[in-house]
Amino acid sequence: MADEKSVVQEFKLDPDCELRFELESKNEKVTLELKNGLAEVFGTELVKGKKYEFTAGAKVAVFTWQGCTIELVGKTDVSYVAKETPMGLYLNCHAAMERMREMAEKDDTRGPITMIVGPCDVGKSTLCRILLNYAVRMGRRPIFVDLDVDRLQANKKAKASGIVINTCGWIKGEGYKLLTHAAQAFEVDAILVLDQERLYNELVRDMPDFVKVVFLPKSGGVVERSQAQRSEARDQGVREYFYGSRTPLYPHSFEVKWNEARLYKIGAPVLPASCMPLGMKAEDNLTKLVAVTPGPSLLHHLLSVSFADSPEDDVVQTNVAGFVCVTNVDVERQTFTVLSPQPRPLPNTVLLLSDIQFMDSH
Ligand code: ADP
Repeated sequence: MADEKSVVQEFKLDPDCELRFELESKNEKVTLELKNGLAEVFGTELVKGKKYEFTAGAKVAVFTWQGCTIELVGKTDVSYVAKETPMGLYLNCHAAMERMREMAEKDDTRGPITMIVGPCDVGKSTLCRILLNYAVRMGRRPIFVDLDVDRLQANKKAKASGIVINTCGWIKGEGYKLLTHAAQAFEVDAILVLDQERLYNELVRDMPDFVKVVFLPKSGGVVERSQAQRSEARDQGVREYFYGSRTPLYPHSFEVKWNEARLYKIGAPVLPASCMPLGMKAEDNLTKLVAVTPGPSLLHHLLSVSFADSPEDDVVQTNVAGFVCVTNVDVERQTFTVLSPQPRPLPNTVLLLSDIQFMDSH
């Protein structure tokens, strides 16, 4: 029987086509090599003759504007060539953003701020990646999502390059409200709506005229993920934060005394308007800082380490330095143990309790 790992597939792609492949089985590995022509993976140009490795969970599209030959070595679960892709439309968005960057550079104003919205599994993160990669390939330095507005003012190159903001698939009810708030807070110039016409129409209705709302189709290659795959992806993200992926990281583990932790969470239960202090809206509660008493319920929770020195600071607006995970709570000794990228001690700043839980299996 042939060794499955030695399966070699060659694909000749016409211009504007993409090779899509998926890899599900654990312990399998697929190597991709560009033999001829030019090709890119989600906006990153491939180097001819270089071997790129993919492991379980990979869902990949190799797109070519000019035509190319690709070799895959290893067993894929799915592999096919698609002729229909939305890449031309995505490139148009990039071109429009690039024109705005040129203008920003000339006038020393800020570059385009673009928000990408849509339901789950329509390729929002992938479109962000493509737009960011295209910008970087033009020598730009765009900021992705987690922006730092100071940075935007201070650095000319970043200022003209603009920002690309990814969002989550929560687009109904409260989720929609939060999207429109974010659009306002980030002062977005453009919103790219993937796949959903209803959302597109709502945003056209609700956004001021200077915000350009653009509808874009999703790619047929985008793969739906189950709830289990989604939580696995999130777990993987947290695991990588502490332990690294290709480059391994070695996190620290140490104890923190309950009485030395300044622990808070953001958001108090919403009270009826009649119970609110004069001048406060019920919504203000959502951003209220609430002190948390350490206890067994902290176990497995991620805490963010805020740069805020005290709860009197504007904690909600302050960046976080990073995250730690509570791996043990000792009620008798009144301590908890954290997994931390940095050695002890934790900075003497505000710690924020999050709802995200991570079980450290290392
Ligand atoms: P969203 O951010 O909307 O949830 P993603 O951008 O994360 O969606 O896409 C979901 C999955 O589909 C990802 O694993 C991504 O690699 C894959 N994917 C996206 N576009 C393509 C494509 N054209 N061909 C194959 N797989 C794709």
